[in-house]
Amino acid sequence: MTTHPRVFATFTAPSFGPVHNRPGPRPCRCGRRHASDDPALGAPLDPERYDYESAVLWNAHAGMLWRRFTIHLRREIARRAGLTQRELPERARVSFAKVAEYQKRGAVHFHAVIRLDGPAGGETRPPHWASAELLGDAIRAAASRAVVPGPVLDGRTHTFTFGRQLDIRTIHDPDLDGGQALTDRAVAAYIAKYATKGAETATGTLDRRLRFVAELATLDLPQHAERLIRTAWALGARKDLAHLRLRAWAHMLGFRGHFSTKTRRYSTTLGALRTARAEWRRLQAAIARGDDPQPVDDEETTLVLAHWTYAGTGLTATEEWLAASLADTPTIPTSEGDAAR
Ligand SMILES: [Zn+2]
Repeated sequence: MTTHPRVFATFTAPSFGPVHNRPGPRPCRCGRRHASDDPALGAPLDPERYDYESAVLWNAHAGMLWRRFTIHLRREIARRAGLTQRELPERARVSFAKVAEYQKRGAVHFHAVIRLDGPAGGETRPPHWASAELLGDAIRAAASRAVVPGPVLDGRTHTFTFGRQLDIRTIHDPDLDGGQALTDRAVAAYIAKYATKGAETATGTLDRRLRFVAELATLDLPQHAERLIRTAWALGARKDLAHLRLRAWAHMLGFRGHFSTKTRRYSTTLGALRTARAEWRRLQAAIARGDDPQPVDDEETTLVLAHWTYAGTGLTATEEWLAASLADTPTIPTSEGDAAR
């Protein structure tokens, strides 16, 4: 019997421009039909008009946006429970854990498990008013209120919010109930339990840091991926963006995340990746020798579920499998096509 209300929620990025986003028999917005492995999927319809700057900066601010969301969520839960923000911790605790994944367009999105516990956490019973419905409702409100003010670049003010697509599903099975630690790894394991084959088809990856932008010329990356990386690299030269460390995170398209050894197997080896791995070992050796001027593992990063891919758009293979596997209907319906825009 489950006792702690908990949901599995997916938060997406907004649109940075239209992309080829429809595989299968129905024509894409470009008028053509795309096979599910068409490399065009996820790429912009018009690369010259795609907002690469915002796409990279959004990834770079996604962690901050998540933290902003969690603050709003506690407020929204307190309000719905008729409590002040000060009273809430005396009655309930909101437990979070999340992992990141890349959509084919190169935007990060988060899969989170959010749970209502008693005041002392997972070992204590949640209050009588705690329900998955209240939680889902509060999540929707908090996600729409979360805003991170961004930098002003060349007269343009950036502001970061989540995209409109928000998927919230109640977890009914005994997984991640009270009494179990809610950790990022537990969420990855939960997803892995449902995603068996589908996620292994990822293509187009770069699983190491870049040292010189010229290295990109030696890698056979899709144009869209390369352009995102180049944008991150270029923005990384700006002093006013130094705190984002965009050059160190250019290979992650601006997002500060890491792949777990458990999920690394999902990546597909490309010819280029063999070169990249040799290069990575060389780089590791250089770091071990103390050559690297900036040690890079000293900051908090988010666990990334699988490599970003360019094999399609919309739901990733993992999500499609999840959506098909989770028995209940979403609390909040997914608006078709929005995620991939
Ligand atoms: Zn298309």
